[in-house]
Amino acid sequence: MLAVETVQRITEFTGDGLPVLTLYVRIDPADRAAYISQVDAMLHEVRGVAGNKDLPHEVRNSLRKDIERINEVRSEPQPRTLAVAYFSCSARGLFEQVELPRPVRDRVMIDETPWVRPMVAILDEYHRLRIAIVDRGSAHFWELYQDELADLGTLRDRTLRKPDFAYGDREYETHNKVELLARKHYRKVVDQLAPDARNGLFDLLAVGGHPEELPEFTDFFPRELEERFAGTFAVDPHTVTRGVIKEEAAPILEKWERDEERQLVSDILERRATGLPTALGLTECLWGGTTAAIDHLLVQEAAQAPGVVCDESRYLAEAGDTCPICGRPTRKTPDVIDELVQTVMDEGGRIEHVLAETPLQEHLVMGRLRFPLPPME
Ligand SMILES: [Zn+2]
Repeated sequence: MLAVETVQRITEFTGDGLPVLTLYVRIDPADRAAYISQVDAMLHEVRGVAGNKDLPHEVRNSLRKDIERINEVRSEPQPRTLAVAYFSCSARGLFEQVELPRPVRDRVMIDETPWVRPMVAILDEYHRLRIAIVDRGSAHFWELYQDELADLGTLRDRTLRKPDFAYGDREYETHNKVELLARKHYRKVVDQLAPDARNGLFDLLAVGGHPEELPEFTDFFPRELEERFAGTFAVDPHTVTRGVIKEEAAPILEKWERDEERQLVSDILERRATGLPTALGLTECLWGGTTAAIDHLLVQEAAQAPGVVCDESRYLAEAGDTCPICGRPTRKTPDVIDELVQTVMDEGGRIEHVLAETPLQEHLVMGRLRFPLPPME
């Protein structure tokens, strides 16, 4: 599973005078095996650069090692993967292969820093759900991310079992002791979760356990946990299985994501109503993509529309044989929405695919803009 730290390491990396090789390889779901020859073709391109005798020896050497390394590890990716990104700077010890759940345009980049925008735009859509299964003496942490559940370990504390034959003051004392130990335990669990929340290691939090005990725990939440708290579910911490945790936690994450989508759609419609820069529908959004105006693009999940592209000036439109910007002939595409998504990623914008039922269903795409749309060509 892709760790937050890995993404941070890649995005913050700099070659410091040496080249970072970035490769994005798009996977064709109808022909997944073609992936290998796509990588070959890209590496061939890099080999050309590495063979350039005008470049310093160190640079060429690093690139050559990058090629070798990618050649060694490339293998057909996991079934859900729709693109693979490689980031490599052999001379400075960077090598990462990241499988992405959404398509990205094929691309080779050699620069002093990794080309992370498409990866960031894709990962931005997926939220990390931290799960804490708690009772009065133990806690077991899990992470649900991109439909995979990872075990993050446990925390165990001393508990006092209520004695069967306690009486009088003893009973009262024992009861207080039980409560005290439970509170100490909950505080420790919170202390373990809060720094991870502050450091961005998870976006959302779900809590499972005995329903009567859960409020005792969630009452201890400081603001950073309160803000990320997405829901609870009832399970017996001692007998719960991986399968059950996933089954209970996944709908919490899903509900949160659908709510977020509805909120984003209504925010843009509200901006529209108050005259703030927005783009509504395909015509406006394609022009917004062409002019690099789109800051946040909402796309109806699985929406497709034919259109035209100019690869020279990145002009996007629904129709037209000639690019009005440079005068070259346009290229027809069966899905100009995909071209728009790739363009917005390149321009550093955010993307959100919307699955929820919202007014976006009739518009297909809408965007929050950085500036008002320039007059159309
Ligand atoms: Zn053009």
